[in-house]
Amino acid sequence: MSLRTLETLGDLSGKTVLVRCDFNVPLADGVITDDGRIRASLATLKRVLNAGAAIVAISHLGRPDGAPEAQYSLAPVAARLSELIDAPVSFARDTVGPDATERRGSLKPGEILVLENLRFDPRETSSVESERAEFAGLLTAGVDAFVSDGFGVVHRKQASVFDAARLVPSAAGLLVAAETDVLRRLTTDTQRPYTVVLGGSKVSDKLGVIEHLLPRVDRLLIGGGMVFTFLKALGHNIGSSLCELDRLDTVTQYLHTAAELGVDIVLPTDIVVASRFGADADTVVTAMDEMEETPFGSSGLGLDIGPETAEKFGSLIRSSKTVFWNGPMGVFEMDKFAAGTRAIADALTKVDGLGVVGGGDSAAAVRALGFEESAFGHISTGGGASLEFLEGKSLPGLEVLGW
Ligand code: ADP
Ligand code: MG
Repeated sequence: MSLRTLETLGDLSGKTVLVRCDFNVPLADGVITDDGRIRASLATLKRVLNAGAAIVAISHLGRPDGAPEAQYSLAPVAARLSELIDAPVSFARDTVGPDATERRGSLKPGEILVLENLRFDPRETSSVESERAEFAGLLTAGVDAFVSDGFGVVHRKQASVFDAARLVPSAAGLLVAAETDVLRRLTTDTQRPYTVVLGGSKVSDKLGVIEHLLPRVDRLLIGGGMVFTFLKALGHNIGSSLCELDRLDTVTQYLHTAAELGVDIVLPTDIVVASRFGADADTVVTAMDEMEETPFGSSGLGLDIGPETAEKFGSLIRSSKTVFWNGPMGVFEMDKFAAGTRAIADALTKVDGLGVVGGGDSAAAVRALGFEESAFGHISTGGGASLEFLEGKSLPGLEVLGW
């Protein structure tokens, strides 16, 4: 149950090391809007370079369909990385093709070569083991060691995460080691009260974690887009808010289970309702059971928790010893719907204990809202991976490293 560390790879001087990073950053018109994941990879990259090795850095970006798509090129990432790290960074226009092969051949210690998006090749995510193994074989050809540092993908059985680690000596990078260490503290010997805050838009993705966490936590605070499925299940009108109608029974079941276990599922008492989905929509704050009684009627939609709820959630967070937060409380990308998320982030910085932010958009939100990363106990770079860890699922990308 412990990950192989970088030290287990021995002397890396003069070696070539393949490092799986998570450079899956948000882009708008080819411009990186949040480089947090690139910065999170720096510690491991520097450590490997300082050990005297050359690095071949690999990552996916977005969800291209197994073929090159210009909008998902890692070229902007390589450019940003070269600004952030004091080492020569070059970029190969393909992943295992002629450009990558030629550049790998002339790579020197202290240099980084970033390969093009792994998911431009369908073998990366293939469910056929032999196809993945073939691709992993090409990725690891000529390298002396493999370092897995893309925490955001360790729950995926993919060529660059799982198969590559079986072909050459492999170890967890510093980021993967740090992330797992924190998440372990959320699952064993947790300090109480333990509060989990869930929001965001991927309701069905997150229902599993609710089921698993209920027996372990003291309070579950629910906001964001996921809250309306709960409100609907309780019989409230929710206008045109996000809702997964096929999950009403599941959600009702969770409410019963929580009551039996004595766990508080805390739902918002007030909601910011918008006339439509847009930054300049008209808004009103209403009680959560009066959402259709606004001037917008049934076309109104809830896009943030209200101020009373933000205050309540904030005080429950501040009085906890352990807090895990995944998913923004509202559409924080628009200023009018950012207050709930800002209040939760602020409370989390004041936790006397361990306060963890998990989830790609949640991490981006705290940075976009101007919070210092160091104000939090930990900001996880992997949303899906951290949720699956907390759900108690086995993560192929960790197991292959000795977990
Ligand atoms: P994370 O990446 O942190 O796990 P998600 O991907 O589940 O979070 O959700 C993030 C998205 O949820 C954000 O883009 C945000 O705008 C959206 N969101 C939050 N609250 C609502 C809401 N009430 N209605 C619609 N979308 C919402
Ligand atoms: Mg997300």
